[in-house]
Amino acid sequence: MAKKDYYDILKIPRNATKDEIKQSYRKLALKYHPDRNQGNPEAEEKFKEASEAYSVLGNDEKRGIYNNYGFDGLNMGGRGFSTSSFFSDSIFSDFEDILGNLFGFGHFSSTRRNKRHGPRKGSDIGIEVDLTLEEAYKGIEKTVPVHREKNCNVCDGTGAESGTSPDVCIQCGGTGSIRRSQGFFSISTTCSMCNGSGSTISHPCKKCNGKGRIEDIKEIKVTFPPGVDNGNRLRITGEGEEGFSGGRPGDLYIIINVKEDDKFKREGNNLIYELNINFSQAVLGDDIKIKTFYGTEKIKIPPEVQNGRIIKLKGKGFKNINGWGKGNLLIIIKVVTSTNISRREKEIYKELREIENKKSKKISAESKNIFN
Ligand SMILES: [Zn+2]
Ligand SMILES: [Zn+2]
Repeated sequence: MAKKDYYDILKIPRNATKDEIKQSYRKLALKYHPDRNQGNPEAEEKFKEASEAYSVLGNDEKRGIYNNYGFDGLNMGGRGFSTSSFFSDSIFSDFEDILGNLFGFGHFSSTRRNKRHGPRKGSDIGIEVDLTLEEAYKGIEKTVPVHREKNCNVCDGTGAESGTSPDVCIQCGGTGSIRRSQGFFSISTTCSMCNGSGSTISHPCKKCNGKGRIEDIKEIKVTFPPGVDNGNRLRITGEGEEGFSGGRPGDLYIIINVKEDDKFKREGNNLIYELNINFSQAVLGDDIKIKTFYGTEKIKIPPEVQNGRIIKLKGKGFKNINGWGKGNLLIIIKVVTSTNISRREKEIYKELREIENKKSKKISAESKNIFN
Protein backbone atom coordinates (compact mmCIF):
# COMPACT_ATOMS: atom_id res chain seq x y z
CA MET A 1 0.00 0.00 0.00
CA ALA A 2 1.35 3.40 -0.94
CA LYS A 3 2.10 5.64 2.00
CA LYS A 4 -0.01 8.73 2.38
CA ASP A 5 1.59 12.11 2.00
CA TYR A 6 2.40 13.64 5.40
CA TYR A 7 0.88 16.99 4.41
CA ASP A 8 -2.32 15.25 3.36
CA ILE A 9 -2.46 13.37 6.65
CA LEU A 10 -2.22 16.57 8.66
CA LYS A 11 -4.54 18.35 6.19
CA ILE A 12 -2.17 21.28 5.73
CA PRO A 13 -0.63 23.00 2.69
CA ARG A 14 3.04 22.42 1.87
CA ASN A 15 3.92 25.92 3.00
CA ALA A 16 2.22 25.55 6.40
CA THR A 17 3.95 27.30 9.30
CA LYS A 18 5.25 25.43 12.33
CA ASP A 19 2.28 26.62 14.35
CA GLU A 20 -0.17 25.43 11.75
CA ILE A 21 1.49 22.03 11.71
CA LYS A 22 1.36 21.81 15.48
CA GLN A 23 -2.24 22.96 15.67
CA SER A 24 -3.42 20.54 13.05
CA TYR A 25 -1.59 17.69 14.76
CA ARG A 26 -3.10 18.60 18.12
CA LYS A 27 -6.57 18.49 16.65
CA LEU A 28 -6.06 15.07 15.06
CA ALA A 29 -4.24 13.63 18.04
CA LEU A 30 -7.02 14.68 20.37
CA LYS A 31 -9.66 13.24 18.09
CA TYR A 32 -7.97 9.90 17.57
CA HIS A 33 -6.15 9.51 20.87
CA PRO A 34 -6.28 5.85 22.00
CA ASP A 35 -7.61 6.90 25.40
CA ARG A 36 -10.69 8.28 23.75
CA ASN A 37 -11.14 5.58 21.16
CA GLN A 38 -10.61 2.35 23.01
CA GLY A 39 -11.09 -0.68 20.81
CA ASN A 40 -11.26 1.34 17.61
CA PRO A 41 -8.43 0.17 15.33
CA GLU A 42 -9.23 2.75 12.67
CA ALA A 43 -8.74 5.60 15.14
CA GLU A 44 -5.55 3.99 16.36
CA GLU A 45 -4.27 3.85 12.80
CA LYS A 46 -5.13 7.51 12.23
CA PHE A 47 -3.45 8.47 15.49
CA LYS A 48 -0.29 6.66 14.44
CA GLU A 49 -0.38 8.23 11.00
CA ALA A 50 -0.80 11.72 12.40
CA SER A 51 1.92 11.19 14.99
CA GLU A 52 4.31 9.91 12.36
CA ALA A 53 3.53 12.84 10.06
CA TYR A 54 4.06 15.27 12.90
CA SER A 55 7.31 13.67 13.98
CA VAL A 56 8.65 14.55 10.54
CA LEU A 57 6.94 17.82 9.62
CA GLY A 58 7.30 19.18 13.15
CA ASN A 59 11.08 18.94 12.83
CA ASP A 60 12.70 21.43 10.44
CA GLU A 61 15.54 19.16 9.37
CA LYS A 62 13.36 16.12 8.76
CA ARG A 63 10.78 18.23 7.02
CA GLY A 64 13.46 19.53 4.63
CA ILE A 65 14.58 15.99 3.82
CA TYR A 66 11.01 14.87 3.29
CA ASN A 67 10.27 17.84 1.02
CA ASN A 68 13.32 17.10 -1.14
CA TYR A 69 13.55 13.30 -1.12
CA GLY A 70 10.19 12.02 0.15
CA PHE A 71 9.91 8.89 2.26
CA ASP A 72 13.09 7.44 0.74
CA GLY A 73 15.09 10.31 2.13
CA LEU A 74 13.85 9.61 5.62
CA ASN A 75 14.40 5.88 5.41
CA MET A 76 17.96 6.28 4.14
CA GLY A 77 19.62 6.09 7.49
CA GLY A 78 23.10 7.43 6.84
CA ARG A 79 22.58 10.99 7.86
CA GLY A 80 21.70 10.07 11.39
CA PHE A 81 18.19 8.90 10.78
CA SER A 82 18.40 5.42 12.06
CA THR A 83 15.24 3.95 13.45
CA SER A 84 16.26 4.36 17.03
CA SER A 85 17.35 7.96 16.92
CA PHE A 86 14.42 8.83 14.75
CA PHE A 87 12.02 7.76 17.38
CA SER A 88 13.88 9.41 20.16
CA ASP A 89 12.44 10.36 23.49
CA SER A 90 12.42 14.00 22.49
CA ILE A 91 9.67 13.22 20.06
CA PHE A 92 7.70 11.52 22.73
CA SER A 93 8.17 14.42 25.06
CA ASP A 94 6.98 16.66 22.23
CA PHE A 95 3.79 14.66 22.08
CA GLU A 96 3.34 15.03 25.76
CA ASP A 97 3.99 18.75 25.68
CA ILE A 98 1.32 19.05 23.08
CA LEU A 99 -1.17 16.68 24.58
CA GLY A 100 -0.43 17.11 28.23
CA ASN A 101 -2.12 20.45 28.71
CA LEU A 102 -5.10 19.78 26.51
CA PHE A 103 -7.08 17.90 29.06
CA GLY A 104 -7.22 20.58 31.70
CA PHE A 105 -6.93 19.34 35.23
CA GLY A 106 -4.42 16.64 34.59
CA HIS A 107 -6.88 13.96 33.58
CA PHE A 108 -4.48 13.12 30.82
CA SER A 109 -1.74 11.57 32.79
CA SER A 110 1.68 12.24 31.41
CA THR A 111 2.86 9.10 33.14
CA ARG A 112 0.80 7.06 30.67
CA ARG A 113 3.92 5.59 29.16
CA ASN A 114 5.08 4.23 32.44
CA LYS A 115 3.68 1.05 33.81
CA ARG A 116 0.28 2.00 35.07
CA HIS A 117 0.33 -0.31 38.01
CA GLY A 118 3.31 1.49 39.50
CA PRO A 119 2.79 4.51 41.77
CA ARG A 120 0.79 7.12 39.96
CA LYS A 121 -0.33 10.60 40.96
CA GLY A 122 -4.04 11.10 41.61
CA SER A 123 -6.00 13.45 39.35
CA ASP A 124 -6.45 17.10 40.13
CA ILE A 125 -9.94 18.28 40.96
CA GLY A 126 -11.48 21.65 40.13
CA ILE A 127 -14.51 22.95 42.01
CA GLU A 128 -16.31 26.24 41.99
CA VAL A 129 -17.14 28.02 45.24
CA ASP A 130 -19.58 30.94 45.54
CA LEU A 131 -18.68 33.89 47.74
CA THR A 132 -20.66 37.01 48.47
CA LEU A 133 -18.97 40.33 47.67
CA GLU A 134 -18.70 40.93 51.41
CA GLU A 135 -16.93 37.60 51.92
CA ALA A 136 -14.54 38.45 49.10
CA TYR A 137 -13.90 41.84 50.74
CA LYS A 138 -13.25 40.56 54.24
CA GLY A 139 -11.90 37.12 53.46
CA ILE A 140 -13.45 34.03 54.99
CA GLU A 141 -12.76 30.49 56.03
CA LYS A 142 -15.23 27.99 54.61
CA THR A 143 -15.69 24.27 54.80
CA VAL A 144 -16.15 22.93 51.31
CA PRO A 145 -17.33 19.38 50.54
CA VAL A 146 -15.11 17.80 47.90
CA HIS A 147 -16.14 14.67 46.03
CA ARG A 148 -13.11 12.66 45.14
CA GLU A 149 -11.84 9.19 44.47
CA LYS A 150 -9.77 7.27 46.93
CA ASN A 151 -8.44 3.76 47.11
CA CYS A 152 -10.98 1.20 48.28
CA ASN A 153 -10.34 0.41 51.94
CA VAL A 154 -11.61 -3.17 51.65
CA CYS A 155 -9.26 -4.36 48.89
CA ASP A 156 -6.62 -1.71 49.51
CA GLY A 157 -7.01 -0.43 45.97
CA THR A 158 -6.22 -3.71 44.26
CA GLY A 159 -9.83 -4.38 43.19
CA ALA A 160 -9.49 -8.05 44.18
CA GLU A 161 -11.59 -9.64 46.88
CA SER A 162 -9.69 -10.22 50.09
CA GLY A 163 -7.79 -13.48 50.07
CA THR A 164 -7.38 -13.30 46.30
CA SER A 165 -5.00 -11.24 44.24
CA PRO A 166 -5.08 -9.80 40.73
CA ASP A 167 -3.55 -11.86 37.95
CA VAL A 168 -0.90 -10.57 35.61
CA CYS A 169 -2.59 -9.57 32.35
CA ILE A 170 -1.87 -12.19 29.71
CA GLN A 171 -2.18 -9.77 26.79
CA CYS A 172 0.45 -7.25 27.85
CA GLY A 173 2.37 -9.36 30.32
CA GLY A 174 1.76 -6.80 33.06
CA THR A 175 3.21 -3.73 31.38
CA GLY A 176 -0.21 -2.18 30.73
CA SER A 177 0.73 -1.12 27.24
CA ILE A 178 1.29 -2.70 23.89
CA ARG A 179 4.00 -1.51 21.60
CA ARG A 180 3.40 -1.91 17.90
CA SER A 181 5.78 -0.97 15.16
CA GLN A 182 5.15 0.05 11.63
CA GLY A 183 8.33 0.46 9.63
CA PHE A 184 10.64 2.72 11.58
CA PHE A 185 7.80 4.02 13.64
CA SER A 186 6.44 2.46 16.79
CA ILE A 187 3.92 3.58 19.31
CA SER A 188 2.66 2.17 22.54
CA THR A 189 -1.04 2.00 23.24
CA THR A 190 -2.94 1.11 26.36
CA CYS A 191 -3.62 -2.59 26.68
CA SER A 192 -7.28 -3.19 25.91
CA MET A 193 -7.57 -6.24 28.13
CA CYS A 194 -6.50 -4.68 31.43
CA ASN A 195 -7.13 -1.04 30.48
CA GLY A 196 -3.52 -0.32 31.24
CA SER A 197 -3.47 -1.61 34.79
CA GLY A 198 -1.27 -4.57 33.91
CA SER A 199 -3.49 -6.98 35.80
CA THR A 200 -6.88 -8.62 35.54
CA ILE A 201 -9.16 -9.56 38.40
CA SER A 202 -11.03 -12.86 38.52
CA HIS A 203 -12.66 -12.27 41.95
CA PRO A 204 -13.59 -8.59 42.11
CA CYS A 205 -13.91 -6.81 45.46
CA LYS A 206 -17.59 -6.40 46.32
CA LYS A 207 -17.29 -2.91 47.71
CA CYS A 208 -15.68 -1.29 44.66
CA ASN A 209 -16.78 -3.84 42.02
CA GLY A 210 -13.17 -4.50 41.17
CA LYS A 211 -12.33 -0.87 40.37
CA GLY A 212 -10.10 -0.51 43.39
CA ARG A 213 -11.46 3.00 43.93
CA ILE A 214 -14.44 4.41 45.76
CA GLU A 215 -16.02 7.82 45.91
CA ASP A 216 -15.32 9.81 49.00
CA ILE A 217 -16.58 13.16 50.23
CA LYS A 218 -14.18 15.15 52.33
CA GLU A 219 -14.93 18.42 54.06
CA ILE A 220 -12.00 20.68 53.39
CA LYS A 221 -11.38 23.90 55.23
CA VAL A 222 -10.46 26.63 52.76
CA THR A 223 -9.16 30.05 53.69
CA PHE A 224 -10.20 32.70 51.18
CA PRO A 225 -7.95 35.70 51.76
CA PRO A 226 -9.41 39.21 51.79
CA GLY A 227 -9.50 40.72 48.30
CA VAL A 228 -10.09 37.53 46.28
CA ASP A 229 -11.91 38.22 43.05
CA ASN A 230 -14.24 36.47 40.67
CA GLY A 231 -12.33 33.88 38.64
CA ASN A 232 -9.37 33.67 41.04
CA ARG A 233 -8.09 30.16 41.51
CA LEU A 234 -6.74 28.77 44.75
CA ARG A 235 -4.62 25.66 44.68
CA ILE A 236 -4.61 23.32 47.62
CA THR A 237 -1.79 20.88 47.25
CA GLY A 238 -2.54 17.25 47.90
CA GLU A 239 -6.31 17.55 48.31
CA GLY A 240 -7.20 16.13 44.88
CA GLU A 241 -7.86 12.48 44.19
CA GLU A 242 -5.80 9.92 46.04
CA GLY A 243 -2.78 8.54 44.20
CA PHE A 244 -2.56 4.98 42.91
CA SER A 245 -0.28 2.40 44.49
CA GLY A 246 1.30 4.88 46.85
CA GLY A 247 1.52 7.69 44.27
CA ARG A 248 1.05 11.30 45.33
CA PRO A 249 -2.48 12.68 45.55
CA GLY A 250 -3.61 15.25 42.99
CA ASP A 251 -4.27 18.89 43.84
CA LEU A 252 -7.52 20.67 44.49
CA TYR A 253 -8.25 23.84 42.55
CA ILE A 254 -10.91 26.15 43.92
CA ILE A 255 -12.35 28.53 41.38
CA ILE A 256 -13.95 31.54 43.00
CA ASN A 257 -17.29 32.81 41.85
CA VAL A 258 -18.26 36.11 43.48
CA LYS A 259 -21.98 36.79 43.52
CA GLU A 260 -23.34 40.25 42.77
CA ASP A 261 -24.22 42.51 45.65
CA ASP A 262 -27.31 44.70 45.51
CA LYS A 263 -25.58 47.74 47.01
CA PHE A 264 -21.89 47.52 46.22
CA LYS A 265 -19.92 46.78 43.08
CA ARG A 266 -16.29 46.04 42.46
CA GLU A 267 -14.05 47.66 39.89
CA GLY A 268 -10.45 46.51 40.12
CA ASN A 269 -9.71 46.88 43.80
CA ASN A 270 -12.16 49.73 44.25
CA LEU A 271 -15.43 49.28 46.05
CA ILE A 272 -18.19 51.28 44.36
CA TYR A 273 -21.30 52.63 46.01
CA GLU A 274 -23.96 54.68 44.27
CA LEU A 275 -25.52 57.15 46.66
CA ASN A 276 -28.92 58.52 45.75
CA ILE A 277 -29.66 62.02 47.08
CA ASN A 278 -32.50 64.46 46.42
CA PHE A 279 -32.36 68.09 45.17
CA SER A 280 -32.25 69.74 48.55
CA GLN A 281 -29.42 67.48 49.73
CA ALA A 282 -27.55 68.23 46.51
CA VAL A 283 -27.99 71.97 46.91
CA LEU A 284 -27.58 72.33 50.65
CA GLY A 285 -25.18 69.45 51.35
CA ASP A 286 -25.77 66.81 53.99
CA ASP A 287 -24.17 64.29 56.32
CA ILE A 288 -25.18 60.74 55.49
CA LYS A 289 -24.35 57.42 57.10
CA ILE A 290 -23.98 54.34 54.94
CA LYS A 291 -23.52 50.75 56.03
CA THR A 292 -20.39 49.27 54.49
CA PHE A 293 -18.78 45.85 54.78
CA TYR A 294 -16.54 47.14 57.57
CA GLY A 295 -19.07 49.19 59.53
CA THR A 296 -20.87 52.51 59.29
CA GLU A 297 -19.22 55.25 57.26
CA LYS A 298 -20.12 58.95 57.58
CA ILE A 299 -20.25 60.66 54.20
CA LYS A 300 -20.10 64.44 54.00
CA ILE A 301 -21.95 65.70 50.94
CA PRO A 302 -20.68 69.19 50.12
CA PRO A 303 -23.24 71.90 49.25
CA GLU A 304 -24.01 72.43 45.53
CA VAL A 305 -22.71 68.99 44.62
CA GLN A 306 -23.23 67.89 41.00
CA ASN A 307 -24.71 64.65 39.77
CA GLY A 308 -21.99 62.08 39.07
CA ARG A 309 -19.48 63.55 41.50
CA ILE A 310 -17.28 60.89 43.06
CA ILE A 311 -16.29 61.03 46.71
CA LYS A 312 -13.19 58.98 47.36
CA LEU A 313 -12.45 57.27 50.67
CA LYS A 314 -8.86 56.21 50.39
CA GLY A 315 -7.83 52.70 51.35
CA LYS A 316 -11.34 51.50 52.09
CA GLY A 317 -11.59 49.29 49.02
CA PHE A 318 -10.45 45.72 48.45
CA LYS A 319 -7.13 44.49 49.67
CA ASN A 320 -4.71 43.94 46.82
CA ILE A 321 -4.34 40.18 46.78
CA ASN A 322 -1.14 40.24 44.74
CA GLY A 323 0.77 42.69 46.85
CA TRP A 324 0.56 45.64 49.14
CA GLY A 325 -2.09 48.27 49.50
CA LYS A 326 -5.79 48.58 49.15
CA GLY A 327 -8.25 50.05 46.69
CA ASN A 328 -10.60 52.91 47.56
CA LEU A 329 -14.26 53.22 48.37
CA LEU A 330 -15.78 55.39 45.65
CA ILE A 331 -19.12 56.99 46.43
CA ILE A 332 -20.85 58.09 43.24
CA ILE A 333 -23.40 60.84 43.85
CA LYS A 334 -26.63 60.41 41.98
CA VAL A 335 -29.16 63.23 42.24
CA VAL A 336 -32.63 61.77 42.02
CA THR A 337 -35.72 63.74 41.03
CA SER A 338 -38.46 63.59 43.68
CA THR A 339 -41.69 61.84 42.79
CA ASN A 340 -45.14 61.86 44.38
CA ILE A 341 -44.57 65.40 45.59
CA SER A 342 -47.11 67.20 47.75
CA ARG A 343 -48.97 70.38 46.85
CA ARG A 344 -46.71 72.33 49.23
CA GLU A 345 -43.56 70.97 47.59
CA LYS A 346 -44.97 71.88 44.19
CA GLU A 347 -45.55 75.47 45.33
CA ILE A 348 -41.99 75.72 46.54
CA TYR A 349 -40.66 74.32 43.24
CA LYS A 350 -42.76 76.86 41.28
CA GLU A 351 -41.39 79.65 43.38
CA LEU A 352 -37.94 78.27 42.85
CA ARG A 353 -38.52 78.18 39.11
CA GLU A 354 -39.41 81.87 39.06
CA ILE A 355 -36.28 82.75 40.95
CA GLU A 356 -34.15 80.59 38.69
CA ASN A 357 -35.77 82.07 35.53
CA LYS A 358 -35.03 85.62 36.68
CA LYS A 359 -31.50 84.59 37.51
CA SER A 360 -30.89 83.11 34.06
CA LYS A 361 -32.39 86.19 32.30
CA LYS A 362 -30.06 88.36 34.29
CA ILE A 363 -27.11 86.18 33.33
CA SER A 364 -27.99 86.22 29.61
CA ALA A 365 -28.44 90.01 29.74
CA GLU A 366 -25.03 90.34 31.32
CA SER A 367 -23.39 88.16 28.70
CA LYS A 368 -25.06 90.23 25.93
CA ASN A 369 -23.47 93.31 27.44
CA ILE A 370 -20.09 91.66 27.27
CA PHE A 371 -20.50 90.87 23.56
CA ASN A 372 -21.82 94.35 22.81
ZN1 LIG B 1 -12.32 -2.81 46.72
ZN1 LIG C 1 -2.86 -5.85 29.79
